[in-house]
Amino acid sequence: MQIKNHRIEQYWYRQSSNVTPATTIVPRFVVLHYTTGWDGAASRDWLLGAAGGSSNQGSSAHLVIDRDGGAWQICPFNRRAWHAGPSRLGSLRDLNSHAIGIELVNPGWLKPDGLGGWIDGHGHHRSDQQLIDFGGYLLAPHSRVGADVYAWPRFADAQIRSARAICELLVHKYAIQAFVTHEQIDTRGWKTDPGPAFPMAAFSELVEDFGRVHRPLRHAVNATRLNLRGGPGLGFERVDPPGQLGRGTLVDLQHQDQDWAYIEVADGDHAGVLGWVHASYLDRIWN
Ligand SMILES: [Zn+2]
Repeated sequence: MQIKNHRIEQYWYRQSSNVTPATTIVPRFVVLHYTTGWDGAASRDWLLGAAGGSSNQGSSAHLVIDRDGGAWQICPFNRRAWHAGPSRLGSLRDLNSHAIGIELVNPGWLKPDGLGGWIDGHGHHRSDQQLIDFGGYLLAPHSRVGADVYAWPRFADAQIRSARAICELLVHKYAIQAFVTHEQIDTRGWKTDPGPAFPMAAFSELVEDFGRVHRPLRHAVNATRLNLRGGPGLGFERVDPPGQLGRGTLVDLQHQDQDWAYIEVADGDHAGVLGWVHASYLDRIWN
């Protein structure tokens, strides 16, 4: 496989109508999605918009990967497709302007119907046997969906192999800094894709193997006043000076212990001071 003119040469290609006209992007991230559908060709046509004979005027992606590993490209990698929606990654907003969107054919979560069967995201009923025949599923809770335990249909092996090969190609061609999930960047709080059945860690490794993740990672404080502590917890005394860090202070992440981050202050009078802060008050700076 190879990429020429921002297209994977070997793949079927047709450009979606749902692409920002006359806008080019420099891809730095890859956002992984599922289609919330059972049928690959139907999702492809939906994401093609008018070009696929569908009424969809609001979404697209760069690639759709079917369960048999076949893929359709529907937007060149240097054009702005519409897959991320309102989104944020650390300090960066509008991921559509910075990312390649890959849709994997998968129905997403199904909720229990109370009788041993399942109801998919479109309200359609599926028996347990239908899910098993489709490839099986993982049972997992998800706070964004509700209080139940949900069925997450597995991705097909051929589909994951194909996605990995494509992502490896993208890492070599573009300055991809990270693979992210739609769930991770969605600011509306309801996206769940590609979900717990997707082997996300295997994809994140692709950039780490390529040496693109430079540590320490720069962050900015997003709280008005953030306590800098001597250890990873509220019980530890403040490091004084500076005691507290103001909003926007740049820090370098050295190490993370669950919700707590060990950081070095990177600017201002206290540059070089080390301590612990609660990680939710840090935004990654991408530059
Ligand atoms: Zn998505």
